[in-house]
Amino acid sequence: MARESSEELYEKFVLGNYPKAPLTLVRGQGNYVWDDSGKEYLDFTGGIAVNSIGHCHPFWVQQVAQQAATLAHSSNLFRNEVQGRLAAVLVKEAGPGKVFFCNSGLEANEALFKLARRHGMRRTGEDGKCFKILCAHNSFHGRSFSGMSATSQEKVRKGFAPLLPGFAQGTLNDVASFEALIDEETAAIAVETIQGEGGIHPCTPDFLRGLRDLCDRHDLLLLVDEVQCGIGRTGDFFAYEFADITPDAIGMAKGLGGGFPIGALWVRDKHTELLPPGSHGTTFGGSPLACAAGLATLTVIEREGLLETVRANSPRWLELLEKIRADFPETVVNVRGRGYMIGVQLTIDPGPVIAAMRSMGLLAVAASGNVVRFLPSFLTTPSEIEKSVRAFRSALSRIHRESA
Ligand code: PLP
Repeated sequence: MARESSEELYEKFVLGNYPKAPLTLVRGQGNYVWDDSGKEYLDFTGGIAVNSIGHCHPFWVQQVAQQAATLAHSSNLFRNEVQGRLAAVLVKEAGPGKVFFCNSGLEANEALFKLARRHGMRRTGEDGKCFKILCAHNSFHGRSFSGMSATSQEKVRKGFAPLLPGFAQGTLNDVASFEALIDEETAAIAVETIQGEGGIHPCTPDFLRGLRDLCDRHDLLLLVDEVQCGIGRTGDFFAYEFADITPDAIGMAKGLGGGFPIGALWVRDKHTELLPPGSHGTTFGGSPLACAAGLATLTVIEREGLLETVRANSPRWLELLEKIRADFPETVVNVRGRGYMIGVQLTIDPGPVIAAMRSMGLLAVAASGNVVRFLPSFLTTPSEIEKSVRAFRSALSRIHRESA
């Protein structure tokens, strides 16, 4: 019997909640992936900011394979030595505190929000009296009920009412709009340091410092969602570092595992008692296998100087994209972002532009607000950046010709 194609199998058996690009990927190596017809693509989606060290990095493969053959899962009933080592590296980067491991971004944020409610209880001495969390308009914090409640994008929330009470939204980079929302029931402020799904909107350093000050004055926790922008993507280990602040807790995931699912919550030392034994948990989180993938990823970033690579190559990339903006003023509105997290805002639907780039062998991903988003691996070289910019330029020219 002939084997059914991926397309047929997906059509019949996989839920249709994702609109998919019409290609089946079968292999990845470094900054490239290949489809089932053998066509090669330069991958500037990075698995949506996950493949920070490219595909199948030999050190990562060796470490993951070795751990899989040694001890893959043991649960949090027991210590495993890999989890402790990964936590130590994250604490070295984030500052004095402790780490909880989970499996995804939404789980990291669920833990952030639970921490906020515990802080509210610590402050008032009562459960349910101080529970509000202030987020930013246009944010994205995941698709759990708490994530959707924090997320202020209608397309994410639609059809899932009622959501959780206690989430309100201020305006990004406007401290006063957050201050105006604070009352005695407010426990925390949570922001993405760079809004990713919302269209690559960075917090300014002054805004982050302003939020830190607000939180200090009102005894609120400052929670940063670094699920997409963290773990080196901006050229700093955490994107908030450029504002020279210390948050009270950080949610992270995506790039941490280099392709293996893992999420984590870092909690500042003075708040670690908020989540005592029994207060939160997960069966899979922090497994030896996930943590080996995390350790291997962070080791490669360190050993190969990838933060420096990202920092060194990004300015030239932004310059090249600015040239495109100047050459297509009626289509390209804005170029935004830091490091290897760049968004180009268009006046038109980015879908056809992304499809045209795909046909030329470049993968990119859309974000809200007509944005083409580029999230390449940190191993991406200046010549690959130039190649991507050429494909972007050709795609825009093609769209122009076709619509002329
Ligand atoms: N937070 C941010 C900033 C994200 O970008 C995402 C995913 O795109 C999430 C949370 C949710 O992460 P996950 O898809 O791993 O649940």
